[in-house]
Amino acid sequence: MKQLNIIILLGLLLLLHSCGGCGDDSTPPPPPPNSNDILSISNTQTDEEIGLLVDGNIGSVAVNDSAFVSLDKDVQLGEITGTGEAIIFNNRRAPVLRQNINWKTDNTIIVETMPDEILIPVTVWILHTPYTTNRTNAIDWSLTTSMIWENERMGVAFEDYEIIDATNNPNAANYLNFTCSMRNNLINDIGNKPNRINIYVVETVDGGTSRGQACSIGSDFVAMASQAGSELLSHEIGHNFGLLHTDSRSDFNRTNVMHSASNTRQYFTEGQVFRSHFNPSSALNDTYNARSGKPIRNCGHLQSDSQCPDIGKRIWEDGTFRPN
Ligand SMILES: [Zn+2]
Repeated sequence: MKQLNIIILLGLLLLLHSCGGCGDDSTPPPPPPNSNDILSISNTQTDEEIGLLVDGNIGSVAVNDSAFVSLDKDVQLGEITGTGEAIIFNNRRAPVLRQNINWKTDNTIIVETMPDEILIPVTVWILHTPYTTNRTNAIDWSLTTSMIWENERMGVAFEDYEIIDATNNPNAANYLNFTCSMRNNLINDIGNKPNRINIYVVETVDGGTSRGQACSIGSDFVAMASQAGSELLSHEIGHNFGLLHTDSRSDFNRTNVMHSASNTRQYFTEGQVFRSHFNPSSALNDTYNARSGKPIRNCGHLQSDSQCPDIGKRIWEDGTFRPN
């Protein structure tokens, strides 16, 4: 009898051992299928947010320029289906348009590498005396412009900010009180460097001692009155980049760089940054040819559709104007 008990006990022990992991209810159940699409940036920068505008379908609803922000390289988008595209913004980088994305019904992972910022050379011709004072002003303009571009993720920086003393040019006196009708003669008489924006510093523009003129949209020309505020150059180069005034819109105020009359210009919307790069008339394309082979979108100022984000589209707040 005692032997039988030992045999039963040994048998039970053998059964327990042969059981392996069975009955171990501390193992969590397998996770549900993960239906999260991801846009992954391969070259993120520490502490610099990635901003996205995404087109596709969420559920059965088509979404246009749905905004996402992420500090992580993997931007979590939730479940997006259908076909669409994404516009990607990042500091000190040119924005990217990723077209023809097929958002599959399971996980879609889109990997993108951001290009460097675009470096543009400019030449500043100083016609108005005193040269040294006006040279200092012109340098201030460049510093403020650079700061605004960096803060607003314009993805553009000055490669070379050449300043030429033209105060001794005998023709300079003819252009000190500048209006746009003088533009072509000024270029011929003072000088002009090709394939770059040329900036001319005069005494008055349109009769004002602190005004500026690009004379046309998408040009490579700027006239600046020597007493202009330091933020005005970013406005005039905004015209060179194809941007129009925003005064008529209730979702803009004087803090936007493209307000026509302001000394508090500091913000660009993502709709403006997009147009600056993708519009064919932008100096980045037609003066600098800096985006050869990249997509072009001829977005009208007030165009707002699947091809063009609204001019008032914001991923990040601009003062009192919230992301939208
Ligand atoms: Zn203007």
